[in-house]
Amino acid sequence: MPKEKQPIKIGDIVDDLKCIGHIHKHLHKNRVKLYVMQCQICGRKKEMLSSTIRRKAGTTHKACGKGFKTKDPIFYRRWQAMRTRTTNENYHAANRYSKRNIHSNEFRYFIDFYDKMYKSYKQLADVIGSENTSLERIDNNKPYSTTNCIWIHKKDQPKHTSRTVTFEATFPDGHKETHTNISEFARKHGLDDSTIYDCLNPNKSNKTHKQFTFKQL
Ligand SMILES: [Zn+2]
Repeated sequence: MPKEKQPIKIGDIVDDLKCIGHIHKHLHKNRVKLYVMQCQICGRKKEMLSSTIRRKAGTTHKACGKGFKTKDPIFYRRWQAMRTRTTNENYHAANRYSKRNIHSNEFRYFIDFYDKMYKSYKQLADVIGSENTSLERIDNNKPYSTTNCIWIHKKDQPKHTSRTVTFEATFPDGHKETHTNISEFARKHGLDDSTIYDCLNPNKSNKTHKQFTFKQL
């Protein structure tokens, strides 16, 4: 006799997913019951058939990255290159990475790199062009992690300067200054660095923020 299938209940956990509810939908003329499953790591929700859940297909957090890899090919390549540098012992410069324990464990899954690093990448890429972005570590002796990674202009490699983009700021009193560090400038003058990035973005029309005007040089 076939074993009775246990129903999936709210609160059940399968791998990284937790059942938080169910809905009914029409799929190919059939009314089907779908379970709303929420990832316990990143919070994403998806609707799944019980058969899929039982097969444990796509029930890990790693599967949350499905579809994201093709969104921005250059960003994906930056992740791949970082993983190669840090995990492949045959990489030509392995003595500078894996052999010094410079790992990227926090970003083992692409989805985590996407969730933690895409926003800052995009801010800079919109200003300088995605091909010019380079992922750098602030402290060269520490691994790749959210707190140790920044995006800089390729031209700034391999010197670990915090320069990302050269810009001219026109102050409220009219005088102009040239700077290279957006975050530092924002902090010093009580401005918001995201808004400065927006002002420097050639695709956006607003160039002023709290009476400061910004121009990329
Ligand atoms: Zn997830």
